[in-house]
Amino acid sequence: MPAIETTDLTKQYGDTVAVADLDLAVESGSVFGFLGPNGAGKSTTMRMLTGLVRPTRGRATVAGADATDRDALRPRIGYLPETPPLYDHATAYEQLDYAAGLRDLDPERARERAGDLFDRLDLPAEVAAGRIADYSKGMRQKVAYVQAVLHQPEVVFLDEPTSGLDPRAARTLRELIVELADGGTTVFLSTHILPVVEAVADAVGILYDGELVAEGAPAELQRRAETGEARSLED
Ligand code: ATP
Repeated sequence: MPAIETTDLTKQYGDTVAVADLDLAVESGSVFGFLGPNGAGKSTTMRMLTGLVRPTRGRATVAGADATDRDALRPRIGYLPETPPLYDHATAYEQLDYAAGLRDLDPERARERAGDLFDRLDLPAEVAAGRIADYSKGMRQKVAYVQAVLHQPEVVFLDEPTSGLDPRAARTLRELIVELADGGTTVFLSTHILPVVEAVADAVGILYDGELVAEGAPAELQRRAETGEARSLED
């Protein structure tokens, strides 16, 4: 059974159709790259799949739960949104203690896991002990990523996860994403940066103006683009 499945998933804001009749199936334990230019509807799709926005029409299931059932979704999913919700007055450790508390995680094990991930992402302990208000965008992004995966969700949604990261941290994050999927987590990754998707995705969907214009393995899409077949994908 797919970890994420959508049928005719649609969101309209007044006359704007942000997402139109989206039919998607994402295999369990795979990395799905969701590509598209700014304004294509990627964030709106993620907000529907994480229960934050109600679809105008259609339906979605995520990790076996209906995407409108937030209580069922909460323990099964993680979400790194475009603008991560972090408390500026807290330190990274306090932020993650708080997140662990909300999710009823064992505090010591959660700290240990967070510490390991901070090490991997090169967020030094003395920085993690300082206030988030003083962090760069990249440092905030690292904390937000750790917060999204701390409870080892079945499905994790990452909206532009390498945003603000230096090349080395971006590479580490790509490695972590592949490790997550190897461990059985399904990763839904939205980005407008093609190389990120090429490096990690098992399958790719391309969204344009709210519509899915192409879907397939990255190499297959590349081949179609090179042979000019891509046009026919829009039919
Ligand atoms: P970006 O990467 O810039 O966030 P995106 O692909 O995530 O782009 P969305 O943010 O999902 O795109 O936006 C898709 C369309 O829906 C845009 O035309 C946007 O203006 C519109 N839209 C999104 N949210 C709302 C809202 N709350 N009210 C009205 N229109 C919205």
